[in-house]
Amino acid sequence: MSHNESGKDCPMECGFMEPETCEKTIVFRGIKLCVPITRHTCPHCGITGSDVACTAAVQQEIADQFRGKTGLLTSRQIQTLREAKNMTQQDLAEKLEVDAAAVRRWEKANIQSRDMDQILRRILK
Ligand SMILES: [Zn+2]
Repeated sequence: MSHNESGKDCPMECGFMEPETCEKTIVFRGIKLCVPITRHTCPHCGITGSDVACTAAVQQEIADQFRGKTGLLTSRQIQTLREAKNMTQQDLAEKLEVDAAAVRRWEKANIQSRDMDQILRRILK
């Protein structure tokens, strides 16, 4: 088992697998999204495997595209607005009366409720 962070080795032991990015159309909560998915392909035997390290990034991309299309603040918007107010995740959590972990998750792949989105906008604007 290789722990090389920049890529992975073929399970058939041919050697290094090359990363390849393709656009994949998915339907998430009834909304059609086009997300870039990175997979690794072995140039020798052609076997492919999904990149586990990319999963979190893909989940965040899906969550952010969904939020963008449905009029919710994206993870980047929440983070940017919060930083513009000079607030830490903990500061924002205290104003919202939620756990700091909730703020951390909204700034990743967790989608806030529409009610919470309205409250976030009021505090961050
Ligand atoms: Zn191979």
